[in-house]
Amino acid sequence: MVYFDNAATTKPLDCAVRAAEEAMENFGNPSSLHKLGLNASQIISASRKIIAASLAASEDEIFFTSGATESDNTAVFGVANSLGKHKKRIVTTSVEHPAVAEPLRFLESVGFEIVRVSPRADGFHAKDIVSAADENTCLVTCMLCNNETGDILPVAQAFRAVKKKFSRIVTHCDMVQGYMKLPVKAKELHADLISLSGHKVHALKGCGALYVKKGVHIKPLMYGGGQEKGFRSGTESVPLVAAFGAAVSELSENLDDRYRHVSALSEYLKKRVSETEGLYFNSPPNASPYVNSIAAENLRSEVLLHFLESKEIYVSSGSACSKGKKSSALSEYHIPDRLADSTLRISFCAENTAAEIDRLMQALEEARRTLLGTK
Ligand code: PLP
Repeated sequence: MVYFDNAATTKPLDCAVRAAEEAMENFGNPSSLHKLGLNASQIISASRKIIAASLAASEDEIFFTSGATESDNTAVFGVANSLGKHKKRIVTTSVEHPAVAEPLRFLESVGFEIVRVSPRADGFHAKDIVSAADENTCLVTCMLCNNETGDILPVAQAFRAVKKKFSRIVTHCDMVQGYMKLPVKAKELHADLISLSGHKVHALKGCGALYVKKGVHIKPLMYGGGQEKGFRSGTESVPLVAAFGAAVSELSENLDDRYRHVSALSEYLKKRVSETEGLYFNSPPNASPYVNSIAAENLRSEVLLHFLESKEIYVSSGSACSKGKKSSALSEYHIPDRLADSTLRISFCAENTAAEIDRLMQALEEARRTLLGTK
């Protein structure tokens, strides 16, 4: 099997699975006052320490959630519910993941003004984001790395300038596709809030985190038993949190080596694509090497995806057509419809190899021959 769909989800590391299994044996409720509860709460503290260190943040700035969708919703609604009574403008980009875009669409329906900044022909400019913010703005939310094209957005520059101009605006970054891939720390990003997901970094599904900078107060999304210092009620999933910590701990050791390896893979893919007739590389030059968007002209993404699947090569459609709708991100990135409909997302992890890219290329050439009847 060749797995090139790591932006969708990653294979759990052995250490993550082991940590989850051990935590299941330690089945106490972290809120219980007896020894079993204490053991469970220590597992959570250990993971919190690891996630905090990965962002060069402090432990009391990390709150565990059920995943990045919850983190993003908490950030958006948390700010809207705290500051939105008087400040009704929110600045974002036109290429955010639905976990940010949809909560914003809801807020728009109840009277918020949502300003969506688009990329120019050469990508996003920090100053376009900054100039969209004003004194009536409560939130600027901008992803670090686009999940369809890998584009790395100028978040640090934009947030630094926003904060300089309007220190009370809250800044939020959906860092899901950059976390444990790009060497980014919380403070360098000038973000008040950062969303993370466990299953994108070789942990398990159903666990994420929200970084909340010390001194930033937003309303919780969940009310109840007061877990996570009252910020995210609900009994913590100790096994999932344990797996998240274990995976991040292992990945933290070789971030640079992994980046180098994946960059070489991305360069190789780019070269092979440029040498092959009818194939195009959509991702911009500054994109993360982990997420690569390519197009196979005249072949529909879904047909290609299933052709590749028949050869046990797993990719994502990238996604030109998601449930019949065109990908707005691809058209926002000025990728012509003709290619957007033929786009595949090839997303790497450190375990992938150049030989797997050769297999992909061979399969794509075969697809062109059989499906298009080319020589
Ligand atoms: N944000 C981005 C950029 C993503 O790519 C994803 C998942 O695809 C999410 C948020 C949602 O993450 P989760 O699956 O943890 O809810």
